[in-house]
Amino acid sequence: RQQPERQAWDVVVVGAGGAGLRAAIEARERGARTAVVCKSLFGKAHTVMAEGGIAASMGNVNQGDNWQVHFRDTMRGGKFLNDWRMAELHAQEAPDRVWELETWGALFDRTADGRISQRNFGGHEYPRLAHVGDRTGLELIRTLQQKIVALQQEDFREFGDHEARLKIFQECTVTRVLTEPGPPGTAGPSGPPPADGRGKVDETDETDGTDETGGVEEPSGGRVSGVFGYERESGRFFVLQAPSVVLATGGIGKSFKVTSNSWEYTGDGHALALLAGARLTNMEFVQFHPTGMVWPPSVKGILVTESVRGDGGVLRNSDGKRFMFDYVPDVFKEKYAQTEEEGDRWYEDPDHNRRPPELLPRDEVARAINAEVKAGRGSPHGGVFLDVSTRVPAETIRRRLPSMYHQFKELADVDITAEPMEVGPTCHYVMGGVWVDPDTARARGVGGLYAAGEVAGGMHGSNRLGGNSLSDLLVFGRRAGLHAARHALAVPDGERPEVAGADVEAAVAEALRPFGTATPATAADTASATASAAAAGGGVTGPAAPENPYALHQELQQTMNDLVGIIRRGPEMTDALGRLAGLRERARRALVEGHRQFNPGWHLALDLRNMLLVSECVARAALEREESRGGHTREDRPRMERDWRRVNLLCRLATPAAAGSAPGTSGATPGAGAGAGAGAGAGAAIELVRHTPPPIRSDLLALFEKDELGKYLSEEEIFQ
Ligand code: FAD
Repeated sequence: RQQPERQAWDVVVVGAGGAGLRAAIEARERGARTAVVCKSLFGKAHTVMAEGGIAASMGNVNQGDNWQVHFRDTMRGGKFLNDWRMAELHAQEAPDRVWELETWGALFDRTADGRISQRNFGGHEYPRLAHVGDRTGLELIRTLQQKIVALQQEDFREFGDHEARLKIFQECTVTRVLTEPGPPGTAGPSGPPPADGRGKVDETDETDGTDETGGVEEPSGGRVSGVFGYERESGRFFVLQAPSVVLATGGIGKSFKVTSNSWEYTGDGHALALLAGARLTNMEFVQFHPTGMVWPPSVKGILVTESVRGDGGVLRNSDGKRFMFDYVPDVFKEKYAQTEEEGDRWYEDPDHNRRPPELLPRDEVARAINAEVKAGRGSPHGGVFLDVSTRVPAETIRRRLPSMYHQFKELADVDITAEPMEVGPTCHYVMGGVWVDPDTARARGVGGLYAAGEVAGGMHGSNRLGGNSLSDLLVFGRRAGLHAARHALAVPDGERPEVAGADVEAAVAEALRPFGTATPATAADTASATASAAAAGGGVTGPAAPENPYALHQELQQTMNDLVGIIRRGPEMTDALGRLAGLRERARRALVEGHRQFNPGWHLALDLRNMLLVSECVARAALEREESRGGHTREDRPRMERDWRRVNLLCRLATPAAAGSAPGTSGATPGAGAGAGAGAGAGAAIELVRHTPPPIRSDLLALFEKDELGKYLSEEEIFQ
């Protein structure tokens, strides 16, 4: 077998959505030779599907807006579980990131006096979402791609090679982040920039030193040496060596049956981080968007943008009642209209009226819809009615919501200018992700590893506000690129981490395993596959019957949907963990036919490892968190508990022995500083560690009324 081709770069960015592209632009502009790898075609990422807009407190439509108000809304939306430093940086820097996009050529919709228009969205006090109709993500990606082309043209002029310092590897899947083991301490913050100024950082980028780990020691998981992957079309393997790797792989939605996510979102970056020694935080918090299509079955889950409600659409049950007025929780009572008349007046006069409850944060609306359907007041196909047709002129609907108009016309034969849509909750976004340092986006515990965008955790707490993802990925994509470049360029040439031949062999063997005996794999492949796959819960093919990856995927999706979905119960989640252990065991025997040239069955067999790992993270953390908060709703623990606000659940890979063991055997015990949770146990690949986040800075707390803080924080915390 041929050795995989090797190339050396300074920074490798995995993912070409908004976070990945913004990171790549920054890294390249800081002088780092940067490679971008993406699983799908360049330009096809979730970001391109984003509809509603980018949240940024530019104050163009209501001058009352500013970063402090945005910070407050974000913390409220996340029920105060957010990494407050990330929420602060995000609110402060989002306007600059939008203006920057405009200077790079983005054509946003305008206000009557020519400024960037901003629209209303759930949980945002003021109209805040900069948008381009309901196709904002498309414009965002187009602009970032255009910027990349401009940088490549610059390189052509200087070096005669467009790809000298910025290259895109499209339709390539990364299956391993490679690391070099290091002595304790090597995973710490990156060193000083080199004397020649390459990778120099603005003073303002070196912020506040909140790199606190809340009593949980950072694992010294070594340092990144590169990535291993395969080309989807040819099946050829490759290695990109680099001292810095940025994960920007997006979400995990394909582990659930009903989802707005497309095929790529199999939690790869989450799993790659775990396997490299990093930890994931807040994985129990999965956002179920309230409005996905429910009919016809082939399109179930496809998103219906929140802009429909932001622009005046209302939710009704089968009795024609605007039921959201019955579902305003106490923490939000003062901020939302009590009557339909007041809610309707707000669209014209937001300064003297309160907003309608259809614009509550997504977790509240999704739960309300779920409850109405359960109570027998749903629409014919198991959703509720979302009506914009009786509220907004047809011409305005077609202009402001063109994608929604076409989506319903073409997929469901429904004219949304004349009749209501049927909608219901759909798995949309994961708040949980790689545990990062807020200022640098550095994944804690692995030197040279960074994460930004949906794959990173913390920023959104227990629930993300609409529009806050696009701004998140621009703010933290830039920071990740900046610090990844700085880290890479600080490593002298002779001291760059080495990719060990044995690691590459192990990665090759792991990737070939689904071919079983059909592939001419060597004995060495098999031996190293066993070692490497153990960490991922895998092993060599046993005597039991082979498994079909598609069938395993369907079972996984059904399990997560039914047992760890929008409303959760303890015994069901325990059941889910048992099933996941069984699926992991069976996934070791997933076999595919054919060869490596574009073979979707093989690709899915490899993705299963990732989906199983992240699903176990979600289920374990959800079982452990005995309260309801944001995107985590437990019927058996319906209250939000103030004590749980100070607990972040970190997921880490159990010891390989536990991960590879058969269901029913015991997992490893969580390590020092850990609160032993439901993490270890029956066939666990994942174990949990409790982490206490640093207290919220007092000047940020001062932005809230004490009464409001009392709903989330204990007396002691407020006093301190
Ligand atoms: P993505 O844009 O998801 O990109 C991930 C990239 O990683 C892709 O290039 C993919 O190919 C690549 N990748 C994944 N795995 C691998 C691998 N193993 N190897 C190599 N490459 C890999 N948010 C808002 O703020 N406003 C909105 O209006 C909005 N609307 C939305 C509408 C829809 C239909 C959806 C699904 C989401 C919406 N969101 C919105 C959420 C937002 O779009 C996403 O959270 C965000 O785009 C994620 O960006 P990202 O850069 O983190 O990842």
